[in-house]
Amino acid sequence: MPNISIAIDGPAGAGKSTIAKLVSKSMGIIYLDTGAMYRTVALKAIREGIDTLDREKLSSLVRDIDIKISYDGEEQRIFLEGEDVSGKIRTPQISIGASNVATIPEVRIKMVELQREIAAQNSVVMDGRDIGTYVLPNANLKIFLTASTEERAARRYKEQLEKGVKDISLEDVKKDIEYRDKNDSSRSFAPLSKADDAIELDTTNLTIEQVAEIIMKYAGELK
Ligand code: C5P
Repeated sequence: MPNISIAIDGPAGAGKSTIAKLVSKSMGIIYLDTGAMYRTVALKAIREGIDTLDREKLSSLVRDIDIKISYDGEEQRIFLEGEDVSGKIRTPQISIGASNVATIPEVRIKMVELQREIAAQNSVVMDGRDIGTYVLPNANLKIFLTASTEERAARRYKEQLEKGVKDISLEDVKKDIEYRDKNDSSRSFAPLSKADDAIELDTTNLTIEQVAEIIMKYAGELK
């Protein structure tokens, strides 16, 4: 059977990764979190003291960047030059940095190359911002998840508190989300947008279980 691909796009906090993990698990296929790749580029830039909006320096930084993805059971691990950075890329500073580096065409071209390679070799559920519109325009199923800014900020804030992060406020998380929404939607190269053939779902008033049930129905039809 040929590989299948499922694209899940939408803004931060819309529920993409939770849903993508559930779908990949139930279908027995891999889950690729493409945001982790942009986060890893941002981590490298910040470590090297490079401004995350400096196109020239970022273009040369990604030219030979060594990013590898592996799976620990169902869990995606991401490696930068052999170092497992999966935990280190989940900070507010890296979120903003990732959104900045993601506006640079050379960075996107390089990351998309890696993403398409993985999709060519595996059946995959990929989540991101441009998967249905740009990375995998022929995906078998495209989902676009949204939710109100308030709800998305509340979800991210709760997630951070559960992770033990203390020095943040709901207001900070909301500002971070608003900054990224604006950056991600207004960039000229492969912005965050819904593909014409994507199924759009507003998750504001739905539980994860309800969203999963709806999406699984569509995914089940692919089998
Ligand atoms: O999904 P996540 O919040 O980890 O993504 C971090 C940032 O990476 C996003 O704010 C977005 O700017 C960028 N991104 C992107 N395209 C993708 C995935 C993520 O531009 N496919």
